[in-house]
Amino acid sequence: MRLSQGQLNLLERCPRQFQYTYLDGFGSPTSLEQQERLSSGSRFHLLMQQRELGLPIDALVKEDAQLQGWMNAFAGAATEILSPVDGEFRESEHCRTLQVEDHLLTVIYDLFIARSDTCQILDWKTYPKPQDRRKLAQNWQTLLYLYVLAEQGEYLPEQISMTYWFVQSDDKPQSLTFTYSNIQHQQIEKKLNSLLVQLTNWLKLYEIGEQFPQVVEGSKTCNYCQFISRCEGRSTKGSDRHLEPDLVEPEYSTNKLLNLATIQEVTIQ
Ligand code: SF4
Repeated sequence: MRLSQGQLNLLERCPRQFQYTYLDGFGSPTSLEQQERLSSGSRFHLLMQQRELGLPIDALVKEDAQLQGWMNAFAGAATEILSPVDGEFRESEHCRTLQVEDHLLTVIYDLFIARSDTCQILDWKTYPKPQDRRKLAQNWQTLLYLYVLAEQGEYLPEQISMTYWFVQSDDKPQSLTFTYSNIQHQQIEKKLNSLLVQLTNWLKLYEIGEQFPQVVEGSKTCNYCQFISRCEGRSTKGSDRHLEPDLVEPEYSTNKLLNLATIQEVTIQ
């Protein structure tokens, strides 16, 4: 199964929600506000990609004051990111995959910068910097993006970092950087393998008619779920199997699913 960080976040947050979304194909309605946010985010990503490719961006920003403002603010705050250095390899929308058992893990880096002794993953967010750094550190976007790169072995974990840039119209862009280590790599591997083993088992059960587990009754995760009416009053086979609360995390949900295929931008709740 092809898996993105967004899918891992959803699987960890509530396996039943993952099932409804990716196996049953139940769509989730998007509000006008969400659509506008996604559209703004997509435009900024496209702008950054075009800029990196050396293509003209005037037409993109000409009639979009918000985009122009974001670009100007970002260019002022992150000059070192936008200025290539001799000998480095840079690529926007850099895609990598890693096979783990029957699953194909897919990551797409907004900007990838590789030098002889360091490697940077950069990600653009068009919303304010989150207050709680720990939630972002535990988000599968951070974990998976770092893990896949280190696992492919071109760089040692200690040579890799990931930086989120939060670009917004009312404030100066801000960044959060996560460094990496061999110990973190081992911890993520354990956590990832455990989640994938669970997924494999749930998929086997699903094939014979059982549903994926729900979060514990009364969990606040349900308060944010668009499938609550589908879950209420259900007594189908397997629906009484609940996860322990420690698996019901995080409140933060990512933006970027498989864009090229199914990717969306992440939103902080
Ligand atoms: S309502 Fe609750 S249990 Fe049902 S899918 Fe949503 S989060 Fe999971």
